[in-house]
Amino acid sequence: MTHPLQLTPDGRLRHLLTVEGLSRPLLTDILDQAERYAGQPSSNRGSSGSRGLKVPLLHGKTVVNLFFEASTRTRMTFELAAKRLSADVLNLQIAASSTSKGETLLDTLKTMEAMQVDMFVIRHEASGAAHFFAQHAAPEVAILNAGDGRHAHPTQALLDMFTIRRHRPDFENLTVAIVGDILHSRVARSDIHALRILGAKEIRVVGPRTLIPAGIEAMGVTVHNDIDSGLADADVVILLRLQKERMVGAFLPSTGEFHRDFGLTKARLETLKPDVLVMHPGPINRGVEIEGDVAYGERSLILEQVEHGIAVRMAVMGMILGDEGAAA
Ligand code: ASP
Repeated sequence: MTHPLQLTPDGRLRHLLTVEGLSRPLLTDILDQAERYAGQPSSNRGSSGSRGLKVPLLHGKTVVNLFFEASTRTRMTFELAAKRLSADVLNLQIAASSTSKGETLLDTLKTMEAMQVDMFVIRHEASGAAHFFAQHAAPEVAILNAGDGRHAHPTQALLDMFTIRRHRPDFENLTVAIVGDILHSRVARSDIHALRILGAKEIRVVGPRTLIPAGIEAMGVTVHNDIDSGLADADVVILLRLQKERMVGAFLPSTGEFHRDFGLTKARLETLKPDVLVMHPGPINRGVEIEGDVAYGERSLILEQVEHGIAVRMAVMGMILGDEGAAA
């Protein structure tokens, strides 16, 4: 069951809060729309990209980026996406804004609505923040979740699916291993939902017991506490950063030990399928979950993921706010 708030009565996107429960046709439609913006795949990986692309779809609309947590890729690609769709884009500098003076989220929302904003892109450390915004937003205002606590990061999952699909559209044959700090990762949750919706053959979560949430099997995944069994025959490996900012207390003896037991090293990569795809949402911690050579090596799609973030975010914004969109 998708979040009831995020769809219109006729099933179109109104907000994007989570991928959980999106229908396969709707999710596929988002990926197809993103293809229109992403440029042709090129032979040496990556694509000709959306460089220089400018379409008037959101001309006259105003998009505000509200990032209460650090971000490089997500914030910048949301901004680029909105600009390529010809929207006016504002970035609220939280540290220099009234939220640092104690203004509540709700008051910030209402203040900005008075400036006739059409869409908020919100990242917040509290799980449920985007949902809270969507509940209280005026009917003509759309909310995009750019990451809420450990709950969801829907556009990351969509760009991950887009990237996988460009190389391996046969989801029903794919074994995908998600490795590392599953417990604190909104990307893991959103990727698991998206992979299930697209019918992936097998989804594994791989990591130390302390970093795997109890009962996660209910999401339709298998749990591996040993990297070698977790990665055996995997077609796609998605590595995750240790989310130290969300860890209260000690979850690991040391990052060195984590690297030894769960890091993707060159030597370990050589034991995997020769055509395995290596992914990471970023930011990477070299020498912890991934070796630097692997991050920018032959099998890595990490920079493609970044690039595809623009096209996927353009697709979502266009579907919600564009002429044919629901909230227009
Ligand atoms: N950038 C991703 C996120 O915001 C992953 C990470 O921070 O490790 O969740």
